[in-house]
Amino acid sequence: MTDRIDRLRITRIESAIAMRRAHGSGTIAATVGRVIVRIDTSDGLTGLGEAAPWAPFGNTADTTAAALDGPLRAVLTGADPSRIAALALAMDHALLGHPEAKSAAEMALWDIAGRRSGLPVHALLGGAVRETIPLSFSIADPEFDADLDRARAFAAEGVRLFKVKTGFAGEAEDLRRLDRLRAAVPEAELRADFNQGLAPHAAMRVCRALDGLGLGFIEQPVPRGQEAALAALAAALATPVMADESVYSATEMLACARGAWADCVSIKLAKAGGLLAARAADAVAEAAGLPTYGGTLWEGGIALAAAAHLIAASPNMSLGCEFYMPRYVLARDVTAEPFPYAGGAVRVPAGPGLGVTLDAQALAAETVAERG
Ligand code: MG
Repeated sequence: MTDRIDRLRITRIESAIAMRRAHGSGTIAATVGRVIVRIDTSDGLTGLGEAAPWAPFGNTADTTAAALDGPLRAVLTGADPSRIAALALAMDHALLGHPEAKSAAEMALWDIAGRRSGLPVHALLGGAVRETIPLSFSIADPEFDADLDRARAFAAEGVRLFKVKTGFAGEAEDLRRLDRLRAAVPEAELRADFNQGLAPHAAMRVCRALDGLGLGFIEQPVPRGQEAALAALAAALATPVMADESVYSATEMLACARGAWADCVSIKLAKAGGLLAARAADAVAEAAGLPTYGGTLWEGGIALAAAAHLIAASPNMSLGCEFYMPRYVLARDVTAEPFPYAGGAVRVPAGPGLGVTLDAQALAAETVAERG
């Protein structure tokens, strides 16, 4: 009986939809929400989680918050927060899909485990193999000249990875932009991301035109579902081909490896559904000889800290990260400390848990819908 009363348990799950405000006019819509999750425990700890759903992937802030407030709350309330693997499984059984919501809840459980033990999350995952992660900045502003100025400034800070969002401005313009960027930041590695933008019948011709440019990789040239075309590109091009939207889970990573769809893969907590699932996907990639990259949707400092801990403890996640949102895009984040960044690299947080603290005032100011 005593055992039952004293058992560690989750007492409360709260979610809030916070506005994502971008600097200036930017290219990022200010009205797309992200969901901030707080999980309280019976021993007085609070863990933080964050999800930034992207509608083209199938979810919005509203559907993510509804998943957290409904089926996931039912699974988690009263459960032992230290049983992370069991709870991740239970969340999968309770609700199909919704990887963003599951990832947010699971990262809060890791935060709690770290705070209880006094260890950073990366130590719970096996310890750091790297303390800094090279930062990649994405060139995505329709005003390319503005991005060129930013690229020069970031290169001066030490950023050596730039990813150009290709496939939107036209083929000739893409080549011109890559040339101008190469001239502006000659010491940097350039990468191209088509975000599924090429029709399979045109992709070979378009990508061959980029193949002699010495790019670090060409990311997701064709849509998810067109993996035969992706594999043909990977086989034909000298430039490595990266899969992003084609690979969410460890199961899809296995299909990628078996089908030789790509040479490297972008891993996102919000695609995989959490740290454990992302780590499982990375393990498959590592076994298949596919290095991985730390991608994001539009997350702020809480979710990116979680991803930084995973990369710190995962040798195969070796292609850098694109965790620039809190520093360069978000006008205001909901964390008390600035996102840890210096000299072109993200520093892996060293404090207990995720190593970030909530600025409750900032969250209140950004909250558009209080839930639960
Ligand atoms: Mg991508």
